[in-house]
Parts: sequence; C-alpha cells; structure tokens
Amino acid sequence: MTHQDNHPPDCYSNSEGSLTVEQALQRVKGLLPVIEASEILSLDDCSGRITANAITCEQALPSFANSSMDGYAFNSIVMDGNRTEPLTLLEVGVSLAGHPYKGSVATNQCVRITTGAKIPVGCDVVVIKENTSVVKSGSETLIEIKHLPKPGENVRAVGSNLATGDQLCERGSKIHPALLGLIASTGMTSISCIRPLKVAVFSTGDELVVPGEAAGDGQIYDANGYLLKSLLQSPCIEVTDLGIVADSTHAVREVMQKASQADIALSSGGVSVGEADVVKQVLEESGTLQMWKILMKPGRPLTFGTLDSGTRYFGLPGNPVSAMVTFAVFVVPAIRHMLGIKGQVTNTIRATCCDDLAKQPGRMELQRGILTLSDYGDWQVATTGLQDSHILASMAKANCFIRLAIESNGVTAGETVDVIPLDNFAI
Ligand code: AMP
Ligand code: MG
Repeated sequence: MTHQDNHPPDCYSNSEGSLTVEQALQRVKGLLPVIEASEILSLDDCSGRITANAITCEQALPSFANSSMDGYAFNSIVMDGNRTEPLTLLEVGVSLAGHPYKGSVATNQCVRITTGAKIPVGCDVVVIKENTSVVKSGSETLIEIKHLPKPGENVRAVGSNLATGDQLCERGSKIHPALLGLIASTGMTSISCIRPLKVAVFSTGDELVVPGEAAGDGQIYDANGYLLKSLLQSPCIEVTDLGIVADSTHAVREVMQKASQADIALSSGGVSVGEADVVKQVLEESGTLQMWKILMKPGRPLTFGTLDSGTRYFGLPGNPVSAMVTFAVFVVPAIRHMLGIKGQVTNTIRATCCDDLAKQPGRMELQRGILTLSDYGDWQVATTGLQDSHILASMAKANCFIRLAIESNGVTAGETVDVIPLDNFAI
C-alpha cells in the first residue's frame, strides 16, 4: 500500500513554500555559531563533555611488553628447529602485574608470569599455564611445556593499543566511557573541553500552572517545561529554567530579556498561526524571526530567531508531543552543531511493522512506536496507539519513532519500516 505514488524525493520541497526537514535543518545550521570557548577539566569532571582539541598519545600504550595470559615467559629461540613436545625449562623467577622480574632470562629458562605483568628481559613468548605441568626436581622447579605456543603468542607488544603520536580522538569528540578510560590510561590528568552550552527554557500559555499549584477552571499543568528540561539533561548543557510566561507582549519581552544571557532560548507554545504575533512582535523589536512551514508531522511550523544579544531562539509548538518531536529533529542537531560535536549519526533500524499505520502523503511523519527484538532476532515495531499531538501518554510508552517518508500513504502490517530509537536524541 505504501509508496504507490512514485514522487521524486524532493518534489515536495517547494510546495506552498514549505521545506523538508533536511532543508530546514540546513538553514538553521547556517544561522548557528559554533562555540570555541573551552575550559580545562579534570578527568573526574569531563565525562560526557566535548573535547576542544584533538588528543594525541604522547607515549606508546602499552609502554612495556606484557603478558596477556597467566603462564610462563621464555625465549622462543629454544623452539627454533625443536618443535618437539614436551619442552622442559627451568623456572628462575616470577613476574607479577606491578612486580616485574628484575633479572634477565637465559635460553632454557622461564619465568612464571601473570596477566599484565612485564615480559622479562630475554623473553618474547608466553605459554599458557594450562599447556604446562610443573615438575619438582630437588630444589629446582622444571616446567614442562606440553603444547608450544606460536612465536610472540600471548605477548602484548609495546604500542599495540596506541602508538606514540596516534590520535585518541579528534576535536569535537564526546568523552564517552571508553574514551575517558583511554585518556586515563595515557596518564593525562585534565582535558580541554568546550564550555557548556547555556540553554534557557520557558513555557508560554495563560492556561499553564506549575505542578503543586491548584489548577483553576480551564487550566492545565505545565508538561513541556519538565519534558524539555529532561531532554536537555547533559553534562554539555547548563539549563536556566525561566518558568511559565503569560501570553502577553510584556511577559514575552521580559522573558526574552532574561533569556538573552543564554546561547539558546527555547520556548514552547504560543507560536501557532496568529498566536505567533506576540513572539513575532517582540523579536522584531529585539532581533529577527523566521517561521518555516516544515513538511513534517507533528510540528509543522518551525519558529527560529536570533535575539540582538546573539541568543538563538527556537519557538517549539505547545502540544507536548510536537514539542518533543521538534526538539529531537531540530534542537538536538542545533545543539550538537553549536558544541561542534563530530561523528554523531542517527542510527536507524529497519523493522517489521506489526500494525497498520494510517498516513496521508505530503509530510514526513514521526509516529510513536515500541521497538522490540523478537526471539528470532528480528526487529519488530508496534504503534503506541493514538498519534494526536496532545496525547503524551502514547509518547511516554514509546521507545522509538517510526519514520514514514513524505510520499508514504500508510503502512500495512508486515511491511518493513524505518525506526529511530529515542536514545539517538540524547545529547
Ligand atoms: P499553543 O501552541 O500555545 O497553541 O498550544 C497548543 C496546545 O498545547 C494547547 O492545547 C496548549 O494548552 C498545550 N500546551 C501549550 N503549552 C503547554 C505546556 N507547557 N504543557 C502542556 N501543554 C501545553
Ligand atoms: Mg498557547
């Protein structure tokens, strides 16, 4: 049933002056600065932050050859032309992790060694303990090697992890757990990181009250403030919560003034057709505003502006699901762009759709789904139910978006669809 009308991919891009998501993103990114300012952070404080420089390895890792197994280190010369088993060697000492064997080892001798222990001088191979047996002879300990190792086996060579001068990471890398561990293993104590991005958040609407206050007739609790603050939780972001703002030029003017300290001001609500006038008026006084119709559902208009202070402004829709979707699609890439984050890609999974999905051609849709891996190892996705943009309950159940292309006219159960797990949108 899907993709029946074979439109070329970009044929909707200019319909009624609308933009595809990709076109709008390109425009937004073209209007964003990239933060250069950095700060030096200790290893304890830099997890999840963005590197301000490439980091190179000053000293090879490992810095000394060491054993990858528990066993006996010896010189492979004794195996040359003598691959007959067993081979018997005299144990002359022990090399433990952190306690190297200080002497030098002659041919026909060996040293008992543990994982991570330094390979003694004179040795170049390790036989695993399981392939040996210990023979006591008077005061001497002889080691019988029942299966000879291959030359160099079980020895971790100098620089096999990183060679001197190798790059650990490029500028703009997110310091994830493995990278932080790698940095620590070089002995570095601090890292130059991009300063946190300052994001101010507020919710607009005369109908909104904070949870904990009494909701009067026709009033609702502010969901978006909490939803957005939660989406913004990241070591790279400093959030300023500017609370709830009334639908008046005076209130919007006041909040924009406060938000002008931030790199990004993020509001929800008050930017539907007609309603946008308040925001528009304020931004015309103190900045610029652009509103683009996006070929996307939910969240058709995207409101983007720049305050005179340089703060970039995103006016997200008021319906909570639309706010979340536009945040994922536009604000997340914008934040990554401003922080100069490199190499973050959206991982899309192809999954079998368990349900029929209704859709009209004309807009790309992100529907809410539950992605699971079946017992047979196939990805399957089910709808969370009603897709109206006020139904946050169906978003709260979801762990992914099902992405339906502009030209799609729906999905029949059993078809394969593109799925974007929500963890793609973590910053
Ligand atoms: P608006 O975009 O301001 O026209 O709002 C669209 C819908 O979203 C209306 O039903 C609003 O009441 C609702 N809405 C706006 N802001 C919020 C909010 N912060 N939390 C929950 N619902 C909201
Ligand atoms: Mg409103």
